[in-house]
Amino acid sequence: MIILKIGGSILTNKDSTESEIDAVSLKRIASEIKSSLDNSYKELIIVHGAGSFGHPPAKKYKIGEAFDKSEYPEKRIGFCEIQNAVKKLNMLICEAFIEEGLPVVAIPASSFMTASDKRIIDGNLDNFRKYLQKGFIPIIYGDVVLDEELEFCVISGDQLIQYLAKNLNPDMVVLGTDVDGVYNKNPKTHDDAIFFDKFSSLKDLDTLEGTTNVDVTGGMVGKIKELLYLADLGIESKIINAEVEDNIFKVLENEEVKGTVISRGN
Ligand code: ADP
Repeated sequence: MIILKIGGSILTNKDSTESEIDAVSLKRIASEIKSSLDNSYKELIIVHGAGSFGHPPAKKYKIGEAFDKSEYPEKRIGFCEIQNAVKKLNMLICEAFIEEGLPVVAIPASSFMTASDKRIIDGNLDNFRKYLQKGFIPIIYGDVVLDEELEFCVISGDQLIQYLAKNLNPDMVVLGTDVDGVYNKNPKTHDDAIFFDKFSSLKDLDTLEGTTNVDVTGGMVGKIKELLYLADLGIESKIINAEVEDNIFKVLENEEVKGTVISRGN
């Protein structure tokens, strides 16, 4: 089984405050996945981020922060707005994948997961297993869920990757984003950033700058934290650049692709 995450940075214009899909990248990625599955059958789960669909409303309503009881109705409608926005993005993604002939089935986190203090504490994955057995590609995405401590919270695609990988024991965990992998500092704002083939500790980062855009879920640092947690469990993952043509195809084919392997080993 392969768990593949496609970052919101690839599928949407994340710097924008508008919900904009990147239809060209989406179609290319869908066709790379299809080509690989045509080559040989693979069990695949897809996770995608919320990008410019989810982050602006999440920021506006400050979902995930403690609030006064009187604010409850406003927070609740904010929750609904975010859930609907990320559902729209997911629908566009599923549409493109189905057009390509990929049998994707959406399983939204808000429909079955709960959290406590922003961490998933409950989410039965039996449906993932059942759909996989029938040859479907389950697809889940950054979403809002009920939170036992905070009422509501945002769950990032990166936390979902961690939760799925921890519970489903995949053969490969890959995250496609808009940079080649992890650097000692943000490569988009620092020309002298140094690239890591392997990454095993947050101490190797010069700065803990999250991301250049409106991400509310932690950007690259948030991603790395989730993946280091997996590394502690002995599950290796790899971050690659999904903007580079054929990278997704190659990684699914087990071919060499530039990227950063996150593991605790040497
Ligand atoms: P995605 O939406 O694809 O999951 P994010 O936007 O959350 O990705 O994270 C990727 C972004 O993180 C990159 O575009 C980059 O600007 C930023 N970033 C910040 N620090 C680093 C770093 N040390 N190494 C690589 N990227 C970094």
